[in-house]
Amino acid sequence: MTRILHRSIGPTLPHAASAQGVYITDTAGHRYLDASGGAAVTSVGHAHPEVLAAMRAQIDNLCYAHTSFFTTDAAEALAEKLVNLAPEGLNYVYLVSGGSEAVEAALKMARQYFVEIGAPQRRHIIARRQSYHGNTIGALATGGNAMRRKQFQPILPETHHVSPCYAYREKGADESPEAYAIRLADELEAKILELGPEEVMAFVAEPVVGATLGAVASVADYFKRVRAICDKYGVLLILDEVMCGMGRTGTVFACEQDNVIPDIVTIAKGLGGGYQPIGAVMLSGKIYDSFANGSGLFQHGHTYIGHPVAAATANKVVEIIARPETLANVNAMGARLQNGLEAVLGASPYVGDIRGRGLFRGIELVADRDTKAPFDPSRKIHAKIKRHAMARGLISYPMGGTIDGIHGDHILLAPPYIIEADDVDLIIERIADAI
Ligand code: PMP
Repeated sequence: MTRILHRSIGPTLPHAASAQGVYITDTAGHRYLDASGGAAVTSVGHAHPEVLAAMRAQIDNLCYAHTSFFTTDAAEALAEKLVNLAPEGLNYVYLVSGGSEAVEAALKMARQYFVEIGAPQRRHIIARRQSYHGNTIGALATGGNAMRRKQFQPILPETHHVSPCYAYREKGADESPEAYAIRLADELEAKILELGPEEVMAFVAEPVVGATLGAVASVADYFKRVRAICDKYGVLLILDEVMCGMGRTGTVFACEQDNVIPDIVTIAKGLGGGYQPIGAVMLSGKIYDSFANGSGLFQHGHTYIGHPVAAATANKVVEIIARPETLANVNAMGARLQNGLEAVLGASPYVGDIRGRGLFRGIELVADRDTKAPFDPSRKIHAKIKRHAMARGLISYPMGGTIDGIHGDHILLAPPYIIEADDVDLIIERIADAI
C-alpha cells in the first residue's frame, strides 16, 4: 500500500529501480525504453558518467549555502555558460528549482520591471489558449488549458488568452502560412488594444508547444510578428522553454530557430537532465538595469535557489548538450524518428499529424483523418496508448481530451539526446504497435 499521494490515485505503479542511458529497469526486472525522457527531462540520458562525476565532486565540497549570504563558483559558472549560449542580450540568469518556479519568477520580474520604470498599471498577461506553463498559481493562471484550470477558478492574476499557432487544426486550408501568421499577430494586437496598451505587461508563449499540443512549432515568421507587436506596444515577450529548450529541438535554445529574441526566457527540465531539480530565468539587461538602478533588489526568492549541487550538475549537463556532436545527434535521430514514424504511421486512418523538431516529436490521433475529427474525449485514447506502450516497454507522454475548443489526443516523444539508431527504430516499432 502506498503512503504517497500520487497524481493519479488508483493504479499501482511499477517501482523504478535503476536506469542507464535510455533505459529504466523496475524492481520486477522489466526494462522500459524511456522514449519521452520522463516528461522531456532526461536530456543527456540516465547515469551519464560525466554528470555523476560532477555531482559527486560538488557534494564532496559543498552541498548548500543560502544565496542571501553566498554565491558559489558552481552557480556563477552555470550562469556564465548559459549567457554565452543564449541569444544576444539575455545577459543575466536567475536560478530556481524547476519549471513552474521559473515561470512564476519570470512573471514577477516582468511586473517588477514595470513598477521600477514607473508604469505599475501594466499588469495584464496575455498567453495562448490551451497552453501549459506550470502548476503554481501564477503559472497555472497564465496557462490557457481549461482542463487544468477549471477546479481552481477564480485564479488570481489577470490573464487573457489568444489563439496558439497550431497550423494542423487552425490554419485555413487555403490560407498561406504567412497569412496565418499575420492573422494571429492581428489577433494579439486586437487583444492588447482591447485591454488597453498601457496596461498590458507581457505576452507568454512556448516556441514549440510541448505537453498540451504535442510538439507544435509555429509557422515561419509568427514569432517575428509577435515580437514586432510586443515592441510596438511596449509589452515584454516571455518565451517558456521549460520543455522545448536546452537542445531538445536541435539548438540549445528553441527560439534560435524562430529568429526571435525574448526579453525573458524560462528553462528547466533538460537543464537538470533529471539529475537535480533546477530551472532558470534568463533576462535582458534592460530588466536587470531597472532593478539595479531602481530598488536595488529583485523582490523574490526561494530557499533552494542557486543550489550548488544542482548548479554544478546542470553546468555539466549544459556542457554536454552544447557539444556539436550532441546537437548533431539530436538532429539526425530526430529526423530518423520523424521519417520512421511517417513511414509506419503516415497512412494510418487514426494518425492525423506527425510533427516536431529535433528529438521533440508529436503524433496527433484522430477518429477521422479526412475531417480531422478528434476521438470522443471520454474514450481517453491518449491514456490507453500510454498504457499499451508501457506494456510493450516504452515510456511515452500522452495528452488529450481537452475542453476549451481545441480537441485531440497527442503522444509526445522526447527521448534522451544520446539515443542511437536502433533504439529510435524500437520507439517507432513499439509506439506504432501500441497505437
Ligand atoms: N512550462 C512548460 C512549457 C512545461 O512543459 C512545464 C512542465 N510540463 C512547466 C512549465 C512546469 O515545469 P515544472 O513541472 O518543472 O514545474
